[in-house]
Amino acid sequence: EIDEPASASSASRLAPIEEVKPTPKQIKRIAAHSHVKGLGIDPESQVAIHEAAGFVGQVSARTAASIVVDMIRMKSMAGRAVLLAGPPATGKTAIALAMAHELGDGVPFVPLVASEVFSSEVKKTEVLMRSFRRAIGLRVKEVKDVYEGEVTELTPVEASDNSGLGKTISHLVLSLKTAKGSKQLKLDPSIYDSILKQRVEIGDVIYIEANSGTVKRVGRCDVYASEFDLEADEFVPMPKGDVRKSKDLVQNVSLHDLDLANARPQGRQGDVTNIVSQLMAPKKTEVTDRLRSEINKVVNEYIESGVAELMPGVLFIDEVHMLDVECFTYLYRALESPMAPVVVFATNRGKTTVRGLEDKAPHGIPPEMLDRLMIIPTMKYNEEDIRKILVHRTEAENVQFNEKAFDYLSRVGSEKSLRYALQLIAPARLCAQTCGRETVEFDDVERCTKLFMDRSESLKKAEEIQKKQAD
Ligand code: ATP
Repeated sequence: EIDEPASASSASRLAPIEEVKPTPKQIKRIAAHSHVKGLGIDPESQVAIHEAAGFVGQVSARTAASIVVDMIRMKSMAGRAVLLAGPPATGKTAIALAMAHELGDGVPFVPLVASEVFSSEVKKTEVLMRSFRRAIGLRVKEVKDVYEGEVTELTPVEASDNSGLGKTISHLVLSLKTAKGSKQLKLDPSIYDSILKQRVEIGDVIYIEANSGTVKRVGRCDVYASEFDLEADEFVPMPKGDVRKSKDLVQNVSLHDLDLANARPQGRQGDVTNIVSQLMAPKKTEVTDRLRSEINKVVNEYIESGVAELMPGVLFIDEVHMLDVECFTYLYRALESPMAPVVVFATNRGKTTVRGLEDKAPHGIPPEMLDRLMIIPTMKYNEEDIRKILVHRTEAENVQFNEKAFDYLSRVGSEKSLRYALQLIAPARLCAQTCGRETVEFDDVERCTKLFMDRSESLKKAEEIQKKQAD
């Protein structure tokens, strides 16, 4: 239940949000890809450059992902989603993150592992819904008082300057014929200078943004806008409420942030047991469907009035074969919504059972969903690419390896797995530091390979133990 807002004006209807931070889990997941800055596409050929933007290889998948990014920009992805299918550590998460980078600054990237959907506390569809809303950003534009009109008068008013040496311009009277009648503005001399520079004349149509002092002009002049960095109070006096006017609100928040900021703490007030339980329990807020639809309504008003713009981000669902059939049913309905983010699934499974169904299906995805997917395969890396990826990662993690140590790490990457080699970087550095060195040497890497096992080795050991127990 939410109260009806006291004011009908939409600008005051949503709670302001001071600062929105990603969750620590999300930061950790994204940190592994800090070297990846984009898809690294050649602007001429529109094909991925073998080594660019932190990426190495996976050229075909990156090129395909960039085509999807173009489709998103052209709004032709509605109802569809992407599936990145390939072996572990072949850059599926990195590609999804790079797609969000390509979509623009501040576009949300929400990584989720499918198994996180199943929790004892929250319904699985609720987890999916929250993730969807986290992945939809809202850019609230800074809207200023803008006066638009045809210049009907431009009169500099002179005054004696303090030195007594002569006259200076004290202000400029500018009259505008606006849609609502005539408006007279008394402008600061510096604005007068800038107006002179732009050669604004009687009969020109200009825009004056009162808050920043930006003078924009349209018409014969080919200079369309210039910034003059003036404060609002440099316009004296300020006639109010002409062409467009609105308040600054919040900037770059997700729909989920708005849900939380507008939700009430759970529980009824005045109930003693409830107060106690609230003290004991972590603070929770209740986001109801009604609240969400109310927020959608306000957001739509913002969009229609030009105050805000939707920034659909990327919702990345890894290990998609872990989702069950109910989740898929929910997802294909959600994908139809005009407020849907781009959903990128990933899997390293081939044909497997769909959870909740008897049947096996490619990647454990029901056929109805599979039909809506654009499938991008990712391939295993060759030795040279593994080496280059390790260079990027050691640089990003700021770890120095000597040549022999790095050769060995690369060999481990090709012979065991890239993921394993990547995971050895941090402990190898610690080993070096324990020996009073900043540079990692061969022995440090070798020591770590003995202390930590890779996946196939640990599987082998576990099978040996099982066999011994059976005997
Ligand atoms: P999984 O199937 O296990 O989830 P994944 O395919 O999602 O793995 P990532 O997590 O994207 O693999 O890749 C593992 C690590 O290797 C990350 O640090 C990633 O940034 C890096 N990486 C993978 N591919 C590339 C590449 N082509 N260029 C640069 N870095 C890469």
